[in-house]
Amino acid sequence: NNNMDSNSDYIPIDRLSLGNQIGEGEFASVYEGSYTKPNREVIKVAIKTLRSEQVEMNKTAFLSEAHIMLRLNHHCIVKLLGLCKGQTLFMVQELMPLGSLLHYLYEHQEKINPNYEFKIWAGQIACGMNYLEEQRFVHRDLAARNILLATQHQAKISDFGLSRALNAGHEYYMALQGGKWPLKWYAPESYNYGNFHHKSDVWSFGVTIWEMYSFGSSPYGEMKGSEAINLIEAGGRLEQPEACPDNIYKVMGQCWQYKPENRPSFKNLLDIFCGDSEYMNIR
Ligand code: ADP
Repeated sequence: NNNMDSNSDYIPIDRLSLGNQIGEGEFASVYEGSYTKPNREVIKVAIKTLRSEQVEMNKTAFLSEAHIMLRLNHHCIVKLLGLCKGQTLFMVQELMPLGSLLHYLYEHQEKINPNYEFKIWAGQIACGMNYLEEQRFVHRDLAARNILLATQHQAKISDFGLSRALNAGHEYYMALQGGKWPLKWYAPESYNYGNFHHKSDVWSFGVTIWEMYSFGSSPYGEMKGSEAINLIEAGGRLEQPEACPDNIYKVMGQCWQYKPENRPSFKNLLDIFCGDSEYMNIR
C-alpha cells in the first residue's frame, strides 16, 4: 500500500533521541525518547522496535501493525506518529507514561476507586472499540495487557499486531494452528472455528473488564487454555470478582453469551458506560 511509504509517515532519524527502555513485549522492545516535530516542538514519545532476533521473522507483522495504526485517529487509541528507518525500523508512538493497565491494576490498587476509575476506563475502551468497529477493524487481542494509560484517567487501546480489516462484512478467518493464541480471551467461535468479528472482540472486552475488577488477576487462574474452553462449553463463566457490582457482572455475562448475536455491540457498551444510562447509575 502506498500510504505506508508516503514520506509524511516517515520521521527523519535526526529528529529522534532514544532514552531508556520502558517495555518489552513478545516481539518488540519499547524505549522512551523525544521527537522534535517539524514546528520544533519537542515531545516525549515511545519508540518501538523489533528485537533483533525477531526482525526477519516478524517484519511483515510489524509493518502490518504500523499500517493499521497509521489509519487510526482517536483519543482512546494509542497514536502512531510515524515510522523511522534507522538500523532497523522504529515505530514512533505517543508516550503512555503510566504503562499497561494490567501492570497498573496490581501495582497501584490503593490509588483506584472501582466505582470511578473502572467505569472511566471501561467507557474509554468501549469508545475506542466502537471507533475501531466503525473503521471495520477487528482487534483480536483485546486484553488488559494491551490497554495503556496516558494518565490515571485516560486509557487507550494498543497492540494492533493481530488486528485485521474486515472485507465486505465477512468474518475474518484465521487458521488456529501453531502460534500462541490468547485462548482465555477468545470467544467460542474464535477458539472453535478461528472466526473473528466485532462480536468476538466484545467477548474479549468482557474478559478485559473482568481483569480490571479483579485488579489484574489472570482469568481462569491456573487452568490451561483447553480447560478454560471446556468450562465455557459446559456453560461455566468467569466468577464475579469481589469488587464487581451486580450490574457490571451482568454486562460481563452479556458479553459472554455463547451466540455472538446475543452479545451487546460496542455502541451498546459505550452507552452503558458513558451514556446517561440510569441503569448503570454511573454519573
Ligand atoms: P509486543 O507487541 O511485542 O507485545 P507491546 O506493544 O505490548 O509489545 O509493548 C510492550 C510493553 O511496552 C507494553 O506492555 C508497555 O509496557 C510498553 N509500551 C508499549 N507501547 C507503549 C507506549 N506507546 N507508551 C508507553 N509504553 C509502551
